[in-house]
Amino acid sequence: MPRLRIQVQGVVQGVGFRPFVYRLARELRLGGWVQNRPEGIRIEVQGPASAQEDFLHRLLSEAPRAAAITAIRSEVLPEVEAAPFEILTSESRGDRLPSIPADLAICPDCEREILDPKARRFRYPFTNCTACGPRYSIIAALPYDRPRTAMAAFPLCPECRREFENPRDRRFHAQPVACPRCGPRLGFSGPGGELEAEAGEALAAGVALLQRGGILALKGLGGFQFLVDAGSQPAVQWLRDRKGRAEKPFAVMFPDRAALGAACEVDAAALVVLEGPAAPILLLPRREGAAIAPAVAPENPDLGAFLPSTPLHRLLLDSFGGPLVCTSGNRSEEPMVIGNAEALARLGDIADGFLHHDRPVLRPLDDSVGRMEGGVLRLLRRARGFAPLPLALEGPSVLALGGHTKGSVTLLAGGQAVVSQHLGDLDSPQGLALLDSTVADLLAFLEANPQRIACDLHPDYGSTHAAAALARRLTLPLSRVQHHHAHVAAVMAEHGLDGPVLGLAWDGSGWGPDGTVWGGEALVVDGSGFRRVGHLRPFPLPGGERAVREPRRSALGLCLACLGTVGPAADAFTLDEVALLSQMVARSLNTPLTSSIGRLFDAVASLVGLRSRSDFEGQAAMALEFQARRGRGAGTYPILLRSGQADPTLLLEALAEDLRRGAAPSAMAFRFHAALADLALAFAQAAGLEQVVLSGGCFQNQLLSELCEARLGQGGFQVFRPALYPANDGALSLGQAWVASRLFMER
Ligand code: ZN
Ligand code: ZN
Ligand code: FE
Repeated sequence: MPRLRIQVQGVVQGVGFRPFVYRLARELRLGGWVQNRPEGIRIEVQGPASAQEDFLHRLLSEAPRAAAITAIRSEVLPEVEAAPFEILTSESRGDRLPSIPADLAICPDCEREILDPKARRFRYPFTNCTACGPRYSIIAALPYDRPRTAMAAFPLCPECRREFENPRDRRFHAQPVACPRCGPRLGFSGPGGELEAEAGEALAAGVALLQRGGILALKGLGGFQFLVDAGSQPAVQWLRDRKGRAEKPFAVMFPDRAALGAACEVDAAALVVLEGPAAPILLLPRREGAAIAPAVAPENPDLGAFLPSTPLHRLLLDSFGGPLVCTSGNRSEEPMVIGNAEALARLGDIADGFLHHDRPVLRPLDDSVGRMEGGVLRLLRRARGFAPLPLALEGPSVLALGGHTKGSVTLLAGGQAVVSQHLGDLDSPQGLALLDSTVADLLAFLEANPQRIACDLHPDYGSTHAAAALARRLTLPLSRVQHHHAHVAAVMAEHGLDGPVLGLAWDGSGWGPDGTVWGGEALVVDGSGFRRVGHLRPFPLPGGERAVREPRRSALGLCLACLGTVGPAADAFTLDEVALLSQMVARSLNTPLTSSIGRLFDAVASLVGLRSRSDFEGQAAMALEFQARRGRGAGTYPILLRSGQADPTLLLEALAEDLRRGAAPSAMAFRFHAALADLALAFAQAAGLEQVVLSGGCFQNQLLSELCEARLGQGGFQVFRPALYPANDGALSLGQAWVASRLFMER
């Protein structure tokens, strides 16, 4: 009887893989062992050849729902003395890299259990098993075992220990296992921090506060969140006023799929994702007459909707009985608050009460956000449930620090790229501290020694400064990667492309090596290098950064550049303002030039009369997209591509004519989108490369993406779009790592 050694790599730790292997081997009467090792899971089995064959087959076909096997290798070993199958203790060092498990949404078994009055864990909010529960948010070090998690402070009671040690129990080796006797406990405190209730009574107090229309700060899986009654306009408005967040949409958590389906259009593919182990927020079309307060997502036909992903949320929603707004517990633009004391200090003037507990959250993790397109999940924010799952990617080891907004860190090492969770903006000291601690975490977890640091070309991004400091400290070379090059490279990394590809990188802004603000770029990317083969004709942005908040400034600059007159852009200003801004443009005072398609969207949104000012990034472009969805089939505008430069003059003239004739905003908005799809095709035909990558924040626009993809497809081009790594700056670190690693290989 030969002995078989099997090496399994991928997401196999913290998902119940070892117990599954144990049960399978025992069932097939095979001897041997399974062991967690830094590089993955190693199994040795000994027994009849037919049983070994069965074992290998079922290892793949019956693996736990959250496992993702990326590689499996086997070799035959000499037979040894037979012994019953067992689980060996983890080995903590090796030459290959481990994977860090992502947090898993509550599984159906645990959900049934917490709702069963006869169960030991009836209404216990920290219930979990090998198929579900916290992982990345509680891991202090690898390999993933209880003493190295936030559960180290909770010794198992005899009953939990029996489950933990019983191979036939679904909690066998479930590291965060807990019960009301031995596990974490809830507490409810008023805004001043005074403890008012514990355990079940704390939950009831939180629910009562929500029913009164108050703001509850809830310590969720990855940090504090603010919750309010999503059906109550005053409650939602109260949260907006307190948080200083005027119009940016909030996400809504629904008690169950029926309630979610009553408010949003949801198909089978979306349900699989919503109820799956990652359970992200999905942007779904909102139903007419849904009982959701208008202030939740003003002037937005979509709703960010999701289902409870932890037993605590499940119980809370169950008791409350209706949808709740659920948003990050932070002060504007800062990372989520994770500690109890910090929450009291920083959120006390926003929240009316705190529902907290004593299980530490080790790092902030926002909810992930995505959208379904033709059955494909495309993430806009990659965090809980997805980060830090690895992407298979070969190359020399690089640590990349990403952009400035929607920050992330990528560590490329040992055949995988590990992209951190969404870190938010780096404007605050808290944001920069989170960047530093995330770097430290990834380096420690993966025990990696990167050979190179990478960052953006922008001299003033917080991540650029941090990268320079790190490169000095570790005496490593620093690669500064152009913003749009990194956008394209991120998609190449995700899809395993080597190039040459034509990358259309369209976004709000990125540092251009020529001193202008780039954002409407056609780049040929091949290996570590890129060539700018085309771009939008640069136009002036009076006031620079201020134009981001005032789309009307983009309109004015664009009209002056292309039409030689302020023209229709004047409508959004007073006469004095027009004179002043025209002077600024004429004298190039605080007026950078930009080739940004994001600013072109702003300009057109302002001209069409949708928004002359924005409350949040992308708002004007979103308004234009929502209009355009209703104007499908309205035709297109002309746009000229001449020696690589896209000139929107004809487009503006046609738009001005439409405005004079009083055309419908929806028709104008659609024509603009269609013109950009024509432009994408023109760029592709000029470049003559078969593979075209679409990336950059503008491609978060679903209509634009679909129109471009269709138009390019008709032209015979193969189109690649971002999926699990966002189109926006959230994936810059991945692209930077890819470019810097290639650079190293080519030297
Ligand atoms: Zn479970
Ligand atoms: Zn217990
Ligand atoms: Fe960007």
